[in-house]
Amino acid sequence: MPAPLDFTDDWKALLRRRAAFADVLSPYTSLLAAWAEHPLDLTPPAWTADACAAAWRRGVPLIAESPPDPPPGPMEALLEPALAAVAAARPDLAEAVARFATAWDRRIVTPAQLLPRQGRLGSVPAEILDGAAVAFLVQASLRPVLERWFEPARERACEGWALGICPLCGAPPTFADIAEDGRRSLACTLCGGARPVPRLWCPLCGNDRSSDLAHLRPDALPDQGYAVATCGRCRGAVKELDRRTRWNGGPPLLEDWASPHLDVAAARAGYWRAIPTLVDLASGRGGASGMW
Ligand SMILES: [Zn+2]
Ligand SMILES: [Zn+2]
Repeated sequence: MPAPLDFTDDWKALLRRRAAFADVLSPYTSLLAAWAEHPLDLTPPAWTADACAAAWRRGVPLIAESPPDPPPGPMEALLEPALAAVAAARPDLAEAVARFATAWDRRIVTPAQLLPRQGRLGSVPAEILDGAAVAFLVQASLRPVLERWFEPARERACEGWALGICPLCGAPPTFADIAEDGRRSLACTLCGGARPVPRLWCPLCGNDRSSDLAHLRPDALPDQGYAVATCGRCRGAVKELDRRTRWNGGPPLLEDWASPHLDVAAARAGYWRAIPTLVDLASGRGGASGMW
């Protein structure tokens, strides 16, 4: 059995820094506990340098070449807290969540339908559960699967890959890091991959016109180093963490989940994000981009 994906200590440290959001963030604690407690026994492909380079030259993320096929049984332990979080955030979706669970039990909805495809998260029919809820479920349950699946490819250089979606799993971006040397990298919050990208570039639409690209920066001192990188062309937003200032920052996914106030600020300013958080779900936001 592989080592579990255990973010418990990192999450505890973030919760201490974000104590004001304790209520909003508490459902994520159950999700992360399920990840730590239920490692999936998957054998990933070898992902040789040549195979990766060939797929990337064709503009195809690795997942399209050889998708994981996680067994539905063990996946349930990961989906359960995610479904509970959706039902708690959106009581009006409780019936749809129950419909999803029934469809899962009957294998009408399968793990394959949760995988990212062409920048979208999941292909579960909207009559079963709406797209924003499905996108949240995918992120909340698939990380242990994808982290393991792409382990052999994680250190590949991603040469020739110029798209905004992840070259490994094909998910759209929500988070970027600025490293010690000032370089920007895009972190995939779905599979844990990362790759260098230009400082001035919108990964959601490819725009690199500096006059369209801006940063929303919170004023409060605890938020030094945090920003939302915005694009005036597609109105998309990606969070950005400058690790030269925030040297004790946590893993990108955790930092993304633990900063709901930045999502609210970006949404108020008219920007959308590519993967919904619980706050997005609860507020009924999403869909404007056509992503969910
Ligand atoms: Zn990815
Ligand atoms: Zn854009």
